[in-house]
Amino acid sequence: MPHPDATPKPPAAAPPFIPLLEGDGVGPELCAAVIPILTKAAARDSRSLTFKTFPAGEKALRETGASLPPETMKALATARASLKGPLATPVGGGIRSLNVAIRQALELYACVRPISHIPGVPSPVKSPEKINAIIFRENTEDVYAGLEWPAASPEAEALQAFLQERLGVSLKERTALGLKPMTEMASKRLVKMAIAWALREKLPSLTLVHKGNIMKYTEGAFRAWGYEVARDDFPGLTVPESEAQEGDARLVIKDRIADNMFMQTLLRPSEYSAIATPNLNGDYLSDCLAAQIGGLGVAPGANIGDSAAVFEATHGTAPKYAGKDVANPSSLLLSGALMFDYLSWEDSARRVRDALAQTVAAGFLTQDLARQIPGAPSSSTSAFARQILERV
Ligand code: NAP
Repeated sequence: MPHPDATPKPPAAAPPFIPLLEGDGVGPELCAAVIPILTKAAARDSRSLTFKTFPAGEKALRETGASLPPETMKALATARASLKGPLATPVGGGIRSLNVAIRQALELYACVRPISHIPGVPSPVKSPEKINAIIFRENTEDVYAGLEWPAASPEAEALQAFLQERLGVSLKERTALGLKPMTEMASKRLVKMAIAWALREKLPSLTLVHKGNIMKYTEGAFRAWGYEVARDDFPGLTVPESEAQEGDARLVIKDRIADNMFMQTLLRPSEYSAIATPNLNGDYLSDCLAAQIGGLGVAPGANIGDSAAVFEATHGTAPKYAGKDVANPSSLLLSGALMFDYLSWEDSARRVRDALAQTVAAGFLTQDLARQIPGAPSSSTSAFARQILERV
């Protein structure tokens, strides 16, 4: 994945170091597996790659009293690119998501997730090679803004009273409340990045995925703003689907309602390439598409803003596998390859992807994939990573 913004392009030379957040759960063992592979791939192209670990997550909280110490945030903000393992977030209470906090604090407004199949990886669909998509998920707002209050809390009661008195909105007693803020600015900058990327990669279409039939002024507005960006910022280069001619050379801008899109990606995946969508839709859609190419173990991702980028697997901490040396390192490894693309190290990125594909082709699979093939042996995280390392 090349740098999404045409200017300024990051230099191809090695940055002094890449900040590394090992993460919680399976994060540290996955980092231990992939760092030697990334380092060797870069060295094969005469690049000296150094990772510098910064504290974050549960271990940092125990040792420093902060889950995201200021030195860590500074390192992420000032480095051109960073690599990150997953960080845990409790459900239903406790701390807010550290992942969301990083994305919002650094304005990493696009969560970019390419989805394509590696031959030999078992898939639940008949033709996984038909999926070749890249999701641009808005990363800073929507229901992820963290604006919600428990039922019967003073804040929820106050908001409920305001809604009743000022807007005539009547809600049931003890209603939990949340807000879904979505701005024209954030929606447009996300779609702009997606269109620029799709044009550079010569993709046939960009699909705006929304739920605007129900949430007219948030999700519906996302759709309208997306078409506006295409029309105003890319005149002559894009065309709405309704006006496109057969074989149109311009980027076709489509839109699909989210529930339909989930069906479309299963039934007609080859009709979709770039996808731009608000935060929550993008979260769901990423895992759904990841499942079709073999699961979360092979789904890379990046959080990209105008001045910083944090590369991370699509999956979380997979707590039940933590410390067992069984998790699939491919998602984090492919996120590292994406980072290489971003740094304009496409040759090193290719080495990583080729070594992984050759390892799979040679019959090595971690348990998440091997269990889908009757009788197939499975490799541990570390053994699988050693096989990749040998092939770099
Ligand atoms: P998860 O950690 O992604 O795990 C869900 C399931 O996906 C696992 O049980 C496992 O499936 C499979 N899986 C995930 N990673 C895998 C890997 N590397 N290799 C093989 N299989 C893998 O999602 P979760 O259980 O919903 O969330 C756990 C924690 O992670 C939560 O605290 C959540 O907030 C956090 N999280 C963090 C991030 C992030 O840091 N960006 C993202 C998502 C979630 P099977 O059980 O079928 O084997």
